Amino acid sequence: MDAPAIFTDAEVYQRSFDPQEYLKEFYRMSDSEGQPNTFLMQNLRSLYKMFSLEGLSGDTLIDVGCGPTIYQLLSACECFQEIIALDYTDQNRRELEKWLKNEAGAFDWRPVVEYVCELEGDREKWAEKEEKLRKKVRQVLKCDVTKANPTDPVSLPPADCIISTLCLEAACKDLATFLSALRNIGALVKPGGHLVMVTVLHETYYAFNKQVFSCLRLDRNMVEEAVESAGFAVKYSEVQPYLPGDVRTDCEAILSLVACRRASITG
Ligand code: SAH
Repeated sequence: MDAPAIFTDAEVYQRSFDPQEYLKEFYRMSDSEGQPNTFLMQNLRSLYKMFSLEGLSGDTLIDVGCGPTIYQLLSACECFQEIIALDYTDQNRRELEKWLKNEAGAFDWRPVVEYVCELEGDREKWAEKEEKLRKKVRQVLKCDVTKANPTDPVSLPPADCIISTLCLEAACKDLATFLSALRNIGALVKPGGHLVMVTVLHETYYAFNKQVFSCLRLDRNMVEEAVESAGFAVKYSEVQPYLPGDVRTDCEAILSLVACRRASITG
């Protein structure tokens, strides 16, 4: 498989990203052959670790490019009081709302929630955590990370923390766009607040449901330098290998990163 000839931009997501197929493909704890989803488990462990770091707590958290998923909020929701989730596509926001409202047909996140509860010390607390997260997500809004104010025409008060998982590399066609998107979403967090990111490295495409989506090929230095030049100081960064041989993607590694927004964007 090859990357699409033309970068699949936000409009392609709006037109052809199927949230249910995406969830089935990437967010089950094991695949149809019973093989464990190491990608997901690794990311859950990284998120657990990052949200255990000192200083990662506060009132408000904004999730940028949430997609139809909640896994990225499971450890986070223990550290923040209110969460706002943002994504470009209507169907992804709708899919997320289905789960938040406990509607029939929503994706079953229970095995994933149980796994995170186990990391946190008590697997039996999954129902409690689900309820907590449902209460804490206050708004699900449209956003475009390529816009100076991603939530335009809504202006959000700057949050204590922003999280973005697997979004910017999917949304940005080149490094310049990636850097400006980081500045755009950086403005959503207070000076002194944090950015938590999970990013795939060396990936040019990922595929599911017979559709291929582009990805900006990044390496660790590119991401760290972009984060620094968007006005953040990197506090934590860890790269984990992605097992080769997956036909769905050419991803080689996953970067988990925490950064703190500096007082001045130029500083
Ligand atoms: N955060 C989720 C979803 C990642 S998929 C996860 O970790 O699995 C990439 C997401 O980026 C999709 O939900 C897509 O709708 C969103 N996206 C693509 N272009 C965007 C843009 N310009 N602005 C905001 N979100 C965008």
